[in-house]
Amino acid sequence: MLYLVFTVDGDWDEYFYKNLSEEERAPKVDVLRTLVQREIEMAEKILGGRFIHFAHTSYRARDFFIKEPFLELWKKLARNGGDVGLHCHEDDPYKAYYYQDAFRMRSVITERAKAFRKAGLTVKSYRSGFLGFSNKIAEILEENNIYFDFSCEPGRYFTHEDYIISDWRGAPEYNYRMDYKDHRKEGKSNIWEIPIGASRGKYLYFEKASLKDLEKIALDLKQRSLENKRDIVVSVLSHTYEYASQDRIKDIEAKLTLLKKYGTFLGLKELQDILD
Ligand SMILES: [Zn+2]
Repeated sequence: MLYLVFTVDGDWDEYFYKNLSEEERAPKVDVLRTLVQREIEMAEKILGGRFIHFAHTSYRARDFFIKEPFLELWKKLARNGGDVGLHCHEDDPYKAYYYQDAFRMRSVITERAKAFRKAGLTVKSYRSGFLGFSNKIAEILEENNIYFDFSCEPGRYFTHEDYIISDWRGAPEYNYRMDYKDHRKEGKSNIWEIPIGASRGKYLYFEKASLKDLEKIALDLKQRSLENKRDIVVSVLSHTYEYASQDRIKDIEAKLTLLKKYGTFLGLKELQDILD
């Protein structure tokens, strides 16, 4: 069987615009509240509420999403069968990246996970900004009882000058238990990696893939699941800023409706049952 997890990275457009002033780049409560409400409504309508919103935690918005009105929204999302996870952007986009800095990653992940739990929300999943990763992160996630990582885009290699931000070359194109020493390999950690669905260099990444691309990838994954007689679980990626436009929302709905023909969308609880 092919199983899919729909994920939305909670980024807003201006975060990535390096020429704006800090004030212009800051997230705006009213705008983001509306966008997140639209995500939740759409997921309710198309997926019976099953999706993960990854809350952005960069230094431009450390605790912005761990306050009202967002806490109320995360609780609603959880009541609907969805989840809120951490989207740790330790970077200043296109200028500096800190994904190899284990000390910094540990403190950001640990503090945010604690803050969410204090607010009554369970955090079980994680995706780094820019799909960054380093070998210490599996250990840090375990320390925080986060057992699902969604940072893998198989084959991705992304650097800034000499700094490696994201290296997923050679990673499996299906769910795997991550190795402690090499995040691209299957191993003995307690972290389940759920990679972004991939086939022939194309991904279940809504902004970058047409309906036709998505259909090819889904068909291929389904075929592989049948041939190898194994369940395959992969994720599907979109971003909060896409919910600013009704046309984009319609496009996302059409894409999800198409993918539902090939795979079954899961929430984290159902995913846990399947992996067990
Ligand atoms: Zn992001």
